[in-house]
Amino acid sequence: MSKKAATKKTSKKAAKRSAPGWDISPADALRWTPEVDVRTMDCAGTPGFTGTRKDGEKLLAERAQELSDLQERLFAEGRSGGTRSVLLVLQGLDTAGKGGTVRHVVGLVDPQGVAIRGFGVPTAEEREHGYLWRVRNALPKPGYIGVFDRSHWEQVLVARVEGLEPEEEWSKHYDEMNAFEAEVAASGTVIVKVALFVSPDEQKARLAARLEREDKYWKYNPGDLKTRAKFPEYLDAYQDMLTKGSTDVAPWHVIPCDKKWFSHLAITELLTNALRSLDLGWPPADFDVEEQKKLVAAA
Ligand code: AMP
Ligand code: MG
Repeated sequence: MSKKAATKKTSKKAAKRSAPGWDISPADALRWTPEVDVRTMDCAGTPGFTGTRKDGEKLLAERAQELSDLQERLFAEGRSGGTRSVLLVLQGLDTAGKGGTVRHVVGLVDPQGVAIRGFGVPTAEEREHGYLWRVRNALPKPGYIGVFDRSHWEQVLVARVEGLEPEEEWSKHYDEMNAFEAEVAASGTVIVKVALFVSPDEQKARLAARLEREDKYWKYNPGDLKTRAKFPEYLDAYQDMLTKGSTDVAPWHVIPCDKKWFSHLAITELLTNALRSLDLGWPPADFDVEEQKKLVAAA
């Protein structure tokens, strides 16, 4: 190659690197580390991402194809005797965007391969069992992407802040849940834990917006104001959840959510990474392809 051509190639590479996008990998930029304090973080930030909203939306559209392809491979593997699955755990206060994440991120893949479970106030039946009972029952089957809209971690959030359990009870749950997740991971489930953070101002705007539109009333719950009044207490509980509940097999990721385009992109990247980590192929045919071709031709 001529010197000129080589320089051209290098500068093309450099241009690609400096194109608006992630300057660190999304997993590294978003994984919780002890320096992250959710009580003071900027919920309008875009950690690791240097592009604009337009760049982010473009990248998300590009990822959609890959994510969808990977999900189909996972599903195919599950149908062919595989045991692996992915679990996306979404935790966040009201209006942080858990529902929007399900629609805009999880919605990128074939719904047949997704199992979504929302966790609300435990029912009478659920209360008869330990708090992990309903969670175990909702774990994704082989080949599926499971999504938890809230999760077992409420047991150190709402249960703590609302005093549903004494401290001597809820304080034991961190270790219990870490052990539970280690067991789930060991059985072949890649766990992606995502904590969504909206600022108090943005939450106020989102709640107010729900009252301006007839089609959003169903999302509004007057009880959310009680939770909002305890914002600082919840952030303390979230900070402890991140500190005590981040493990090697199931680390927490922290997502600033005031910019929905960013939170959707960030979570799409994390989910795509999780699927990539499985190095998914296509299951080989368990029949003679050539023979079947002949039989189909003759049929
Ligand atoms: P939403 O996500 O808006 O449907 O609300 C679900 C509600 O259920 C929230 O207020 C949660 O705090 C509450 N919730 C979820 N898990 C638990 C739990 N383990 N104990 C008590 N309340 C819970
Ligand atoms: Mg709600």
